[in-house]
Amino acid sequence: MIRGSGALTAVLHDACPGAGSQLSALSRQHSALQRRRVRLAAPCWFVYRPGVMPEYRRPIAPGATFFFTVVTHARRPLLTGEKALECLRTAFREEHARRPFEIDGIVILPDHLHCVWTLPQDDTRFSMRWSAIKAGFTRLYRAIGGGEAGLSASRRRRGERGAWQRRFWDHVIRSEDDYARHMDYIHYNPVKHEVARCPHAWPHSSFGKWVRRGVYARDWMCACASPVESPDFGDVDGRAGK
Ligand SMILES: [Zn+2]
Repeated sequence: MIRGSGALTAVLHDACPGAGSQLSALSRQHSALQRRRVRLAAPCWFVYRPGVMPEYRRPIAPGATFFFTVVTHARRPLLTGEKALECLRTAFREEHARRPFEIDGIVILPDHLHCVWTLPQDDTRFSMRWSAIKAGFTRLYRAIGGGEAGLSASRRRRGERGAWQRRFWDHVIRSEDDYARHMDYIHYNPVKHEVARCPHAWPHSSFGKWVRRGVYARDWMCACASPVESPDFGDVDGRAGK
C-alpha cells in the first residue's frame, strides 16, 4: 500500500473549524446509540452516530455546492506521485487565496480526481477556478520536469501543454442525500478503482479528515476483517465522467 504523504489534508480548506473537538467532546458524552444533531459554529451540521453509516447534515445552498470530475490528459497516471501531489496542493492553495472555496470532499487517483466544493454565495465561477488550478498545476509540474513528457506531437503543435483533459464534469448538488451520496462516492473511489482495499487505506482523500470529525467510522466499507459489498451509487456513477 502506498504510504501517505499526508499531502492532501494540507490542501483541504477547513470547512468547520472546531468541529473535531466538539465532536470528540460529544463522543465522550453520548452513548453509541444516541443521535444528536449538533449545530456548529460554522455553517455545517452533522448527525453523529458512532460506528454507523456516515451521515452529513448540511444545508445545501441552491447552486453553491458542486461535484466535479477532472481527468489527466490521455489518462496519464501522474497525479499521485509525491511531486505531482505537491504541485497540486500548491495550485489549489494559490487559487484558494485568489478565489476562495470550500473543499468538502476530495479524492485523488492516479489519472483523475473528484471533488465536492461549496462556493461563496452568489459565486458560481467554478470553471474559472478549475482553469486556474489546472494551469497552475501544469506550470508547476513542468517546472520540475514532469509536465510535457507524455504529450502528443499534435497537442504540442496546437500549443496544448496541459497535463489535463480540457473537459471536466460538474454536477450541482441538489439535496442533503445527493451530497451524502457524492461524498460516499468520493471516499469509496479508491476501492472502486482497486488502488486500495479500503477507504481508510488510501491517503489521498478527505476520508481521514471526516473520520477525525466523527462523520465516518474509520472502518467504513473496510474489508480488512471480512469482504464488503460495493455500495450502489445509482446515478452518481453515470454523471461522474467515468
Ligand atoms: Zn480496512
